Amino acid sequence: MQTTQHWINGTFTKPADSRLADVTNPATGKVTSQVALASAETVNDAVAAATAAFPLWRDTSLARRVQILFTFRELLNARKPELAAIITAEHGKVLDDALGEISRGQEVVEFACGIPHLLKGGYTENASTNVDVHSLRQPVGPAAIISPFNFPAMVPMWFFPVAIAAGNTVVVKPSEKDPTAANWMAELWKEAGLPDGVFNVVHGDKEAVDTLLHHPDIKSVSFVGSTPIAQYVYREATAAGKRVQALGGAKNHMIVLPDADLDLAADAAVNAGFGSAGERCMAISALVAVEPIADELVAKIAERTRTLRVGDGLRGADMGPLVTAAHRDRVAGYIEAGAAAGAGVVVDGRDVAPDAEGEGFFLGPTLFDRVTPDMSIYTDEIFGPVLSVIRVESYDEALALINANPYGNGTAIFTNDGGAARRFENEVEVGMVGINVPIPVPMAYYSFGGWKNSLFGDSHAHGTEGVHFFTRGKVVTTRWLDPSHGGLNLGFPQNA
Ligand code: NAD
Repeated sequence: MQTTQHWINGTFTKPADSRLADVTNPATGKVTSQVALASAETVNDAVAAATAAFPLWRDTSLARRVQILFTFRELLNARKPELAAIITAEHGKVLDDALGEISRGQEVVEFACGIPHLLKGGYTENASTNVDVHSLRQPVGPAAIISPFNFPAMVPMWFFPVAIAAGNTVVVKPSEKDPTAANWMAELWKEAGLPDGVFNVVHGDKEAVDTLLHHPDIKSVSFVGSTPIAQYVYREATAAGKRVQALGGAKNHMIVLPDADLDLAADAAVNAGFGSAGERCMAISALVAVEPIADELVAKIAERTRTLRVGDGLRGADMGPLVTAAHRDRVAGYIEAGAAAGAGVVVDGRDVAPDAEGEGFFLGPTLFDRVTPDMSIYTDEIFGPVLSVIRVESYDEALALINANPYGNGTAIFTNDGGAARRFENEVEVGMVGINVPIPVPMAYYSFGGWKNSLFGDSHAHGTEGVHFFTRGKVVTTRWLDPSHGGLNLGFPQNA
């Protein structure tokens, strides 16, 4: 059986790590390969490669760096079906959805191709008499990028195009559940002409992550994953003196006001609730129906949910399996708990008959009605195809529910009332807001990130916040001396 190795200094490593983990195809339940789990020593090798490559890459001209980015973009665009097949085989999401995630990541590469404009500083002539001031942004140094299983291509691409374009080197630590996408992208960088050591990949678990968090040569950490780990990463890496952006979990609410078009709202709820089997940090998991529309809306959602085809992502299904058997069982446990707590089970995903061969980790879409905020299906991030409808009497009650939630990643309101939408945009305590858009993922030239327990740190991903995260500001004050500047004066100059 093939073992997925690390990519260090422009080449795959020879087998050295004794610990291995199985990688499965979630649609068949079969173990398809194994992945090496890096020891601290292996991670140190990767950081050493990134550290050694940094001075040369930092001083490589912007024109050259951008040429390499353009080439990477062209190769990615031409060959994305290959990458999509890898994602479907290890994550389970349907092929179209895998292609979609690559396209969203590619947008960040395209954004980073504009880095010369984004790195331009300011210039002030004659700030004081014959004194000029200008500002620069310079790369920070080797960056660690630690990513979750649910977007093995897109999430690393939220960070590395900007980091590399800005002159940093990177060590990517992908999820051990679907490690191959990162290696595929590493080889693509090499083909695009990126010097060895600028882009490195180490596979692994806590041992690899902890080594990166504490390594003195790692200067920044970009993490995406569950809230408890995001919090841990933020605490450890900031204590070690690094700049950190740690994106965590989510519980995204979609409010439907009584004046909304209920057919459009039902389509949106199904797409955003069950797309990628609910394994998206921007999935809608709580639908807040403002009465009197709940009966009609639930009926429309149920009707659509029952038409979804569940199966192997290579066979044209709408929804694939969950990532592991353990995760499937955990999600099924929530369904059981919701039913036991008294929520109405409108559609039960446990009865699913998937179009697949073998023992895949399938669970059909599940719709709950009359969910209350004390139930675990509401309080917890389930990260599966489970949509909970909560009935409320007013907009104010819906807003209070969202603002009381500890997460603040994404949210949406469905309405035809511009005034209500404008109020919502202003009042809701969530980082990414959709108005009649259920999954409001910002374009690459804006920044992606939530509030509250959905993000630790103060920099969101990509966009100008990403550029700032991967660069440090410097301000230079210049005076070309002539004899009139002589003389002693120990005070701060004033209005000179
Ligand atoms: P996870 O937290 O289990 O793993 C994320 C990364 O952390 C992986 O690389 C993993 O190897 C590593 N890791 C796991 N346990 C660790 C530990 N104890 N110490 C150090 N490192 C550890 O998350 P996941 O299950 O891979 O991904 C799903 C989660 O990610 C969900 O909570 C989802 O909401 C979240 N997510 C958030 C966003 C966002 O933008 N906010 C985007 C995607 C996913």
